[in-house]
Amino acid sequence: MPYVVGYPRIGEKRELKFALEKYWRGKISFDELEEVARRLRARHWSYQKEAGIEYISSNDFSYYDQMIDTIVMLGAEPQEYKDLEGIERYFAMARGDQNHKALPMTKWFNTNYHYFVPQLHKDMEFTLHLDKPLSEFQEAKAQGIKTKVNLIGPITFLSLSRTTDGSDPLDLLPKLLPIYQEAIQQFKEAGVKVLQFDEPALVQDPTKKQLDALSEAYRIIPLDGVQSFVVTYFEHANEAVDRLIDTPISGIGLDFVHGPKNIQSVEKIAKSGKKLIAGVVDGRNIWVSDIDKKVRFLQELPIEKDQVIVSTSCSLLHVPYTLAYEEKLDGNIKSWLSFANEKLTELRLIDKLYREQELGSDQELLEANKAANKTRKKSLQIHDKAVQERLANLRPEEKERQMRGEERLPIQREVLGYPILPTTTIGSFPQTAEVRKLRRDYKEGKIDEEEYKEKIKEMIRYCVHVQEDIGLDVLVHGEFERNDMVEYFGQMLSGVTFSENGWVQSYGSRCVKPPIIYGDVSRPAPMTLEWITYAQSLTDKPMKGMLTGPVTMLNWSFVRDDLDRELVYKQMALAIADEVRDLQDAGIKVIQVDEAAFKEGYPLRSQNRSEYERIAVESFKISTAPAKPKTQIHTHMCYSDFNDIMPTIDAMDADVISIETARNGNRLLEAFRNYRYKKEVGAGVYDIHSPRIPSKEEFIAQIENRLNVFPARLLWINPDCGLKTRRWEEVIPALRNMVEATKDVRSRIVKL
Ligand code: GLN
Ligand code: ZN
Repeated sequence: MPYVVGYPRIGEKRELKFALEKYWRGKISFDELEEVARRLRARHWSYQKEAGIEYISSNDFSYYDQMIDTIVMLGAEPQEYKDLEGIERYFAMARGDQNHKALPMTKWFNTNYHYFVPQLHKDMEFTLHLDKPLSEFQEAKAQGIKTKVNLIGPITFLSLSRTTDGSDPLDLLPKLLPIYQEAIQQFKEAGVKVLQFDEPALVQDPTKKQLDALSEAYRIIPLDGVQSFVVTYFEHANEAVDRLIDTPISGIGLDFVHGPKNIQSVEKIAKSGKKLIAGVVDGRNIWVSDIDKKVRFLQELPIEKDQVIVSTSCSLLHVPYTLAYEEKLDGNIKSWLSFANEKLTELRLIDKLYREQELGSDQELLEANKAANKTRKKSLQIHDKAVQERLANLRPEEKERQMRGEERLPIQREVLGYPILPTTTIGSFPQTAEVRKLRRDYKEGKIDEEEYKEKIKEMIRYCVHVQEDIGLDVLVHGEFERNDMVEYFGQMLSGVTFSENGWVQSYGSRCVKPPIIYGDVSRPAPMTLEWITYAQSLTDKPMKGMLTGPVTMLNWSFVRDDLDRELVYKQMALAIADEVRDLQDAGIKVIQVDEAAFKEGYPLRSQNRSEYERIAVESFKISTAPAKPKTQIHTHMCYSDFNDIMPTIDAMDADVISIETARNGNRLLEAFRNYRYKKEVGAGVYDIHSPRIPSKEEFIAQIENRLNVFPARLLWINPDCGLKTRRWEEVIPALRNMVEATKDVRSRIVKL
C-alpha cells in the first residue's frame, strides 16, 4: 500500500506552464486554463493509480504555489490585494501587477523550489475557504480515486510566515487552530478519510516554542473518523516525533533518505501504535533505487510491518516526470535514472517485496533494477581512474594558493594598475532576443560553427567597446555564449549529462532542467579560453575570465549518490582549476569564479554546517589553487546575508568578492565591518533587478555609504549581479552614471 507524499503538477510536457503563460498574455480564458489543469490532475491521479499507489494526494496541484494556496484557504491575504478577487487576486500575490507588488519569494528549505512568504500581523483574523481542496477531492472521487488531502500544517505555515508588525507569527496559533478544526470537520463531511499535514519546518533545529506549538496543534486538530498523518522531510525530525507520539494523530512521515538519523525515532513510533510513513524512495534525486537494499532497510526497522507505509521521502515535485521522452540519453545512463513515474514503480516493487507478496510480472522489472545497479557500480562511463588518482594524490600547491591574501593584493594592484575604487561588472551583459536566437539557430544546426563564432565575437567587440567608452577599469566579455551559468559548463564536462525533458518547477511557470552529474568529472578541453582571450585581445584593460565555481555547479545539479558528495565537489573543483590554469597561461590576469549558490547549499541542521563549510571552502580553494600571486581571483555571491558566515567567506581566500548590497545593503555591510575583512570587496551599488536607471547623485550617495564601512583601498564599485536580464538602453546610462560617480568620489579621496 505505497504512499506518495505529493506529485508534480507542471505537466510532463510543461502543459501547465504554457497554459498559464497564455492565460497571462490574454490568449486563453480562465475556463481554458482550468480545463488544462483538470486534465493534468486526472492524468496524474491515473498514473499513480495504475502504478498501484494506495495513498494518492489531492490538493498537491497548484496554479502557482502551495503556500499561496494555503494563504487563500486561510483567508490570510494581505489587505493590499483585497481590491481584487478570485484568480486575479491570486496571481497578483504571485506575480504582482501595475498596482500590486508580488509577495516576497524564497527557497523552500534547501530545494530549488520557491514559495511565497505570507505577510501576517498580530491583529488579523483567519477565515476558512475550502473550495479548492474540496473540489479537487471531489474531482478525484468522480474519477474513482479516493485521495488523501494534502495541507500545509499550521506550524510550518506560521514558521515560514513573516509579520508586518514584528510580532512572532507563531503567536497566531490560537487563532489558526479553530480554522484547521473547522476544515477537518468539513473534509470529514465531504467523505475525506485521510489528511496529510506537511510539517517540514520541524526538521530545521526546532525551537521549544515551535515544539510546544506542535504539541498543542496536533492535540486539537485530529478528528475521529479521519486519519491525520503529519509528514516531515529533508532532514530528521526526532524532536518533533517525541511530541507527536503523545498526540492523537494516526501516523508520522519520516525521510530516511535525507534524514538517516530518523532511525532513532522508529522504536518510539512502533510503541505508540501509530503508522510510520517510511520515506525510502528519494523524492529529490533521480537515481534508480537499489530495491533490494531498500527492502532490507525496511525489514530491519524495529517496527511491525502492518504499522509501516512505504513512501517517497518527500513530494516528487522536486524531480522530473518521466524518462519516457528521453530519446537522446545514453542507454546506460538512462538505466541508472528514475524520475517521478519510475519511482512509482519502485515503490510498488519495494512494497511487494517487503510484504513478501508475489511479484508476478513485476519480476522482470526487479531483474532490470538489479542489472542497472550492477552496471552502475562498475561502468567505465562512471569510474575514471585518472580522476580518482589525481584527487587522491593532491599536492599542497594543488589544494590552495601558497601566498597569503593580504600579501598577494599589493602585487596584483601593481600588475593590474587599477585606480582606487576600481569599477567592474559581474559578467553578463544583456541577453537580447538576438543573442538567444543566435544560440538557438546554432544548436538547431541552422547556422554553422564558423558563423556562430563570428557573430558571438561581434557581440563581444560591441560589449568591450561599450565598457571602454564608459571607462570601466576591469572588463568582461559579456557571456553571450552562455544560456545559463551552470548548464554552459556542464555541457563541456565529462561525467555530466543533460536530459531532454527533465524539467522541474522552480516557481510558478518557471522550470529548470538541472545537469545530471553521473560520473567522475573532468574537463576534456578548455571551456572559455577562446572567448576570453579573444576579448582580451581587443583591449589593454584587464579582461576578467568568468567561471562558475564547484559549489554552485553541484548545488544546482542532480548529483550522483554513489560517491561521497565531498569527492564530487572536489572533482568538479579540479576541472575548474584546469580552466583557471589555462586562462592564466594565456595571459588572463583576473579570473572570477562565481559561487552564486554557495549560501543555499547550507544544511538545514546547524550541526552539519561546519562540515559543509569545510568541504565548500576546500573545493573553492582547489578550483583557484593554480592562480599565481599576481593573478587576481574574484568570486561573486548574490546575497545580502553574510552575518553568520564571514569566517567562511574569508577562508575561501578570494582576492576580491563582489556581493549584492544595492537594495538592502546596510545590514550586510555591518557584517564586513564587524569582521574587519582585509581583502577587497565589490559592494553592489546598482540594483540590477529593477529597470530603473540610478542617477549619478544616487551612486555617489551609495559609494559614500560604503566608504563608511570599507577603507577606500579595499572597495570596488560594481552592480549587484550580472546584467543579463536588463536592456542595453538601461545598462549603458546606468554604468555611465556609476563610473562618473566613482570618478567624482575618487577625486575627492585623492585630494584628501
Ligand atoms: N557571472 C554571472 C553573471 O553575471 C553571475 C550570475 C549570478 O551571480 N547568478 O551573469
Ligand atoms: Zn549574482
